[in-house]
Amino acid sequence: MRLTRLLTVLVTAVVAAGCSGPSPSESPKPAAPVAAPAAAAPADRKYLLERVDEASVAQLYADGFAALPLREKTLIWHLYQAALAGRDIFIDQKHRSALEMRGVLEQIVAHPQSVSAGTLAEVQHYTKLFWINNGPYNNLTARKFVLTCTPQAFGEAVKAAAAAGATFTVRQGESVDAMLARLQPMFFDASVDPIVTNKTPGQGKDILQASANNLYSGVTLADLKGFSEQNGLNSRLVKRDGKLVEEVYKVGGLYGTYLTEVVKHLEAAQAFADPPTARALAALVKFYRTGAVSDRVAYDIAWLQDTASPVDTINGFIEVYLDPRGIKGSWEALVFYVNPGRTARIKTIAANAQWFEDHMPFDPKYRKPSVQGIIANAIDVVVEAGDSGPVTPIGINLPNDQAIREKHGSKSVALSNVTDASNRATPGSMRGEFSWTPEEAERGARFAEVAAALTTDMHEVIGHASGRGAEGVTGSPQELIKEQFSALEEGRADLIGLYFLADPKLVELGIVPAADHDSIVRAEYETYTRNALAQLRRVRQGSQIEEDHMRNRQMIVRWLVANTKAIEERTRDGKTYLVMVDPAAFRAGVGALLAEVQRIKSGGDYAGAKKLFETYGVHFDPKLRDQVVARVEQLNLPSYTGFVMPKLTPVTGADGAITDVTISYPMDLTTQMLEYSGVKR
Ligand SMILES: [Zn+2]
Repeated sequence: MRLTRLLTVLVTAVVAAGCSGPSPSESPKPAAPVAAPAAAAPADRKYLLERVDEASVAQLYADGFAALPLREKTLIWHLYQAALAGRDIFIDQKHRSALEMRGVLEQIVAHPQSVSAGTLAEVQHYTKLFWINNGPYNNLTARKFVLTCTPQAFGEAVKAAAAAGATFTVRQGESVDAMLARLQPMFFDASVDPIVTNKTPGQGKDILQASANNLYSGVTLADLKGFSEQNGLNSRLVKRDGKLVEEVYKVGGLYGTYLTEVVKHLEAAQAFADPPTARALAALVKFYRTGAVSDRVAYDIAWLQDTASPVDTINGFIEVYLDPRGIKGSWEALVFYVNPGRTARIKTIAANAQWFEDHMPFDPKYRKPSVQGIIANAIDVVVEAGDSGPVTPIGINLPNDQAIREKHGSKSVALSNVTDASNRATPGSMRGEFSWTPEEAERGARFAEVAAALTTDMHEVIGHASGRGAEGVTGSPQELIKEQFSALEEGRADLIGLYFLADPKLVELGIVPAADHDSIVRAEYETYTRNALAQLRRVRQGSQIEEDHMRNRQMIVRWLVANTKAIEERTRDGKTYLVMVDPAAFRAGVGALLAEVQRIKSGGDYAGAKKLFETYGVHFDPKLRDQVVARVEQLNLPSYTGFVMPKLTPVTGADGAITDVTISYPMDLTTQMLEYSGVKR
């Protein structure tokens, strides 16, 4: 599971030089213990590169890379190539036409000379959104976005690009015009395949039919009754001649061409890896070759047993948010190295995991009697591709296989250079607009950043890693809780972070200074509460929330409003506020809700999960959303950020051996994306 950076946009108020700054009352004063930025980073370098509608584009830096030993740099270079070799898999998983659409767009963008200025501007704008979101769907709302020029103007742009040397891929016997006509509904009609993942399509509608992703073809939920799925995580499920067929993702199977390339680079990496890493990479290669569940399990275990290596990768079909059933894995890859200067806090939490488990405010029968190997590191990412880039998580805890977690433990990473770049690229905050008092806004400016970082660490390390299934319940929680699972599990991890944030244990462990503890708790609870209102700006159409982290946050706050005295809904000058008034009541409510959420997960209570989210987490009043949108519009803040990744270049000696790997920063999304696709300008 992973934590996205949705909430941190709200809590940060840091500014990069050269951007428009926050008001003086929002200037950053992070409380201890925030580590200093990496020594090599110049204070005035650029983070925010451009804005594309609701998205901002920022440069990610990996300052520690240059000082790594050659062997580690070379290992990262091979893992980096393996990451990029698979990136198109995820774009194809998003929509069956997405790669074709991207091909058309990139050719126009790379050959712009004779394209009319107005059309070119629109195509460039749409293409950037497409790149950032890995396809034509907004990653927060799951809704499709379309080109706003006319199909005629688009057709002329294609012809102008072709005259300038662009080449367009068509199907056998198909003309370019016929290809454009075939793709026209996807480019221009928002009502065709409108939602990529739709877990709540309405009464009598089917979640698979209502979702436009490419994880299924022609399949309904009813078709799955009595069907035993062999490769749940790594297959596309297709109905062919009335029969269900699993197209397995593997070398020689679906995505075989990409996976063959991925495997080639993973094999080259092994010679430069520590033995535990090399064993994990070999296990991953075996899984990519066979596609067998037993080999995936063996890989997960080998990856967990690699506990101390300074360089690591996540590469595979990992997260299940794209699938409305929560079963099929989206392909992603991350390559990273440990940031030793940032690791102390998260390691302290991991080292005390058993204490936290023993003090979970849920039924003791759901606590783990002995917490297994929780590994936690603060890391710097060198590259993220597929489901994890350009929009990236800030924390990750894996593996997702509950049975393996219970027996072998889990690894957590906090993506410290991502958090840094997010904070520095966000030119302000909407804290002031949604705070009831100036004191609340000031507390947020001073403490919210450190509070969020700490809550994130606990979300991953003691949140996702905690708890166990009830006696006698068979089947994984994913299978039992179905489309409600991801939001439930994210809610559970958030609740654990919120609950223990207020625990005196954190002061005792030296993670939080005693003098600041109350303020940190209050700032986090206030921020979390305000977010339930402010996050509605991200769902500009409809009246329901689709994204799982947004659902869980809405659920928690609305549950607390309904069931405790911790939060008051107030109105002033026609504006709505959610005001956190009682931290003790907030924490007690969080504990009570966590007990219920854990009971639902451990017992596999699907009906209980559905009711919880249908009541508190999914639906909202569109009039309230319209009010929120009007209030934030003038602040001109992004809803999400896409990152331009660092670029690696090998230096080779006369014999062809790698003598160094250099890192550079492209500072431009278009340059990087065309380079990744191998499109020449
Ligand atoms: Zn999570």
